[in-house]
Amino acid sequence: MKVLLLGGTAEARELARVMVAAGTDVVSSLAGRVSEPRLPEGAVRIGGFGGVSGLVAFLSEHDITHLVVATHPFATTMAAHASAAAGAVGIPVIRLLRPGWTTHQDAAGWHWVDSYPGAVAAADRLGSRPFITTGRQTLDHYRQVWHDREALVRIVEPLVMAPPPAWRVVHDRGPYSVNGEIELLRRHEVDVVLTKDSGGSYTAAKLDAARQLGVPVVVVRRPDPPSGMPQVADPAAVMAWLRESRPSAR
Ligand code: NAP
Repeated sequence: MKVLLLGGTAEARELARVMVAAGTDVVSSLAGRVSEPRLPEGAVRIGGFGGVSGLVAFLSEHDITHLVVATHPFATTMAAHASAAAGAVGIPVIRLLRPGWTTHQDAAGWHWVDSYPGAVAAADRLGSRPFITTGRQTLDHYRQVWHDREALVRIVEPLVMAPPPAWRVVHDRGPYSVNGEIELLRRHEVDVVLTKDSGGSYTAAKLDAARQLGVPVVVVRRPDPPSGMPQVADPAAVMAWLRESRPSAR
């Protein structure tokens, strides 16, 4: 048995730790977007595969028998590629997907939207000093329409292009505390928070801070996961799946 673990998330690191402790032969894969990534335990490779064909070649060349997709819930391309490549090679694949915030105690009071343009429209109705936490790759959706807004933007890595002069950009990667988030929202006089339904605890403190300050929250819904891929919510379930599944003939 040899597992390729597509990661870049806290739960992927936790799964790698569990696998290494169990003696499972695992190699974790990171996209290479973050300059100083938190590395998982065990073997790690970094960088894209080169599409579905590149991933198929990697699976074959490295005798991978099981594929685990533990990428971020919004990393849809990698999940789709994994589904296609596992099918082409004939190995079992599973998605480790952290639960979303739809069950959060405040979820019913948030403004749920299906897209980033939808988030802009909703936020425009709610406030004028947005806190944008939907990630570096989404900033083009706000750059034009909010170029003159005093938007607060939080990202992990520095921007390649200069942000609009009115924006205030902070670099941080969490986990965050509720008190820290309250202080940040107050200091920048934020009156609407934009997020996506990442789920998990690392970035959830802003949601509690927003409730305590009475600041409205706009949430972009998750994209649909690839169809036909079994899905579990925690590393223990992946380990149970590994024990039960057998590599198919190659
Ligand atoms: P994506 O749109 O699904 O994938 C874009 C391309 O990046 C893929 O086609 C693949 O390149 C490469 N890639 C993605 N994940 C990879 C991995 N684990 N190992 C090797 N290559 C990978 O992904 P994304 O949204 O840009 O996210 C990139 C990484 O950041 C993911 O690992 C994800 O878990 C992590 N992350 C994403 C977010 C987010 O909001 N999207 C948030 C936190 C962390 P090739 O086609 O060349 O193979």
